[in-house]
Amino acid sequence: KYNQTGWNFDNSYAQLPNLFYTSISPTPVHSPKLVILNEQLAESLGLNVGALQSGEGAAVFAGNSIPAGAEPLAQAYAGHQFGHFTMLGDGRAVLLGEQITPQGDRMDIQLKGSGKTPYSRGGDGRATLGPMLREYIVSEAMHALGIPTTRSLAVVTTGELIWRETKLPGAILTRVAASHLRVGTFEYVVRWGGVDKLQILADYTIKRHFPEIADDENKYLSLLQEVINRQAELIAKWQLVGFIHGVMNTDNMAISGETIDYGPCAFMDVYDPDTVFSSIDTQGRYAYQNQPIIGGWNLARFAETLLPLLHEEPEQAVKIAQEEVSGFSELFHSHWLTGMRAKLGIFNDEPQDENLITDLLDLMKDHRADYTNTFRALTMNRLEGMDLFKTERFTQWQKRWRDRMERQQESTASSQELMRKSNPSVIPRNHRVEEALEAAVEKEDYSVLERLHNILSTPYAYTEEQAEYCTVPASTAPYVTYCG
Ligand code: AMP
Ligand code: MG
Ligand code: MG
Repeated sequence: KYNQTGWNFDNSYAQLPNLFYTSISPTPVHSPKLVILNEQLAESLGLNVGALQSGEGAAVFAGNSIPAGAEPLAQAYAGHQFGHFTMLGDGRAVLLGEQITPQGDRMDIQLKGSGKTPYSRGGDGRATLGPMLREYIVSEAMHALGIPTTRSLAVVTTGELIWRETKLPGAILTRVAASHLRVGTFEYVVRWGGVDKLQILADYTIKRHFPEIADDENKYLSLLQEVINRQAELIAKWQLVGFIHGVMNTDNMAISGETIDYGPCAFMDVYDPDTVFSSIDTQGRYAYQNQPIIGGWNLARFAETLLPLLHEEPEQAVKIAQEEVSGFSELFHSHWLTGMRAKLGIFNDEPQDENLITDLLDLMKDHRADYTNTFRALTMNRLEGMDLFKTERFTQWQKRWRDRMERQQESTASSQELMRKSNPSVIPRNHRVEEALEAAVEKEDYSVLERLHNILSTPYAYTEEQAEYCTVPASTAPYVTYCG
C-alpha cells in the first residue's frame, strides 16, 4: 500500500535482539489533520509530496495507517537524568522504520506522541501541539545553521485533547534521524544484555555510522574516539550560536552526533554564561557554560559501557577509556577556538587570539549585550545601535582586533565573507517562536510560523527582510521553557 508515495523501508533495527525493542503499533487517533509538511525534506527522502498532501500524510504521520514495509517498534534505552541512572525507552514514540533515500542514506522515521508503549512509565504517550511545533521550528533552524540535528518532516494534530495543566490539543511530530542510538542505548544494553549483546550493539553502530573504522585494529576504541570527536564538534557549534539544549541527559545524546530532543532548549539573547531556560533545571546543571563539561561527563558514561570491549584486562580498559575521555575538553576547545576565530574574521592562529576572544565575551557579559546581534553588528560593521560599542573598553578592544586583522595575509573582503558565513543574522528568537506557536495553537493560523520558518531557512543571508527578526524585546520577564 502507498508505495507510489516512495516509501522504501529496510529495517535493520528490527533485526537486532528482542531485548533492544518492543514491536508495537502507534495508537490510532480520532481525526488526524496534517498541519505542516516539510516538502523539501520529504523530497530528499524520496517521498511524493502530492501523495502525502492528499490524505495519506495525515493518516501515516498520525499512526492511523502503517505504510508498506514499516515495522513499528519502540526502542528500549536507559540514561542518566540529571546525574541519576534510570530505565527509560520510547515512552511516547515509535520508529516506523528506516527509509532508504534515493541517495542511499538510511534514515529513521519516528512518530513522536504516538501513544503508550511498555516504556511509558505512567505517562500518556502523547504530545501537545505547541511543543511539537517548537521542535519543528527549532530543529529545522538548527539544520539551516549547519548544525547536525534530527529533522522534522511533519506535524499532525490528532483531534484529541491532552491533559497537561489544562486540556491542550494533541499532536504528533514525525522525526527523521540518522539513527536514534543514544548513549542511553549502550547503558541499557550493557546493563541488561551483558557483553555479547553489547558487542552486537557496538558492531551495529559501527556498520551504520562509522563503516570506515570497521577494520581498525581496535574498532571499539575507534568508536569511542569517533563519538567523542563528533560531540566535541557538535557542542562547539552549540556554543558558537548560543544554543542551550536544556536537558543533556545521556539518553538525549545521540551517537550519530546529531542534536536530539528539542524539549526545553532555547537560544540565548543576552550573553550570560550562566543562562538556563528550563523550568526543571533548578541547579543550572545544563546552563550554557556547563554544556561542554556535561558533554564530557556523558562521554565518560559512554566510555564506561564500552569497557569490556576496549581491553581484556579491566585495568587497561579503564586506562584507555580515561585517556580518551580526558582528551574531550581539549578537542572541544580547539573546535570552539577555530569557530570563534572565524566569527571574528581570523584565518590563522596566534597564541593571543583566545584573549582577544574572551575579552570581547567579557565585555558583552558586563554590558548585557545580545550575543547574536553583537557578532551581527561586527560582521556588518554597523556599530551605531548598541551601548557596548560606545564604551572606551570596546574602542580599545577594537584597536587590538584591527591590528590582529592586519597581521594576516587575507584581504578585508575575505575576512568579511568569513564572518558572514560564521555569524548568523537570524536565530529562532524566543519571542518570535512563542508568537508563531500562539497563532498556530490558539487561532489555527500557521502563517506566522511559516514566515518564521522561511526566514530561518537562510540564517546567513543578511537580507533586509530579516531585520525585523533580529530585534530583541527591551526588557522581558526571564524566559522559561518546559519539557513538553
Ligand atoms: P525526555 O525528557 O524528553 O528525554 O523524556 C524522558 C523519557 O520520558 C523518555 O523515555 C520519554 O519517552 C518519556 N516521556 C516523555 N513524555 C512522555 C509521555 N507523555 N508519555 C510517556 N512517556 C513520556
Ligand atoms: Mg529524550
Ligand atoms: Mg523530550
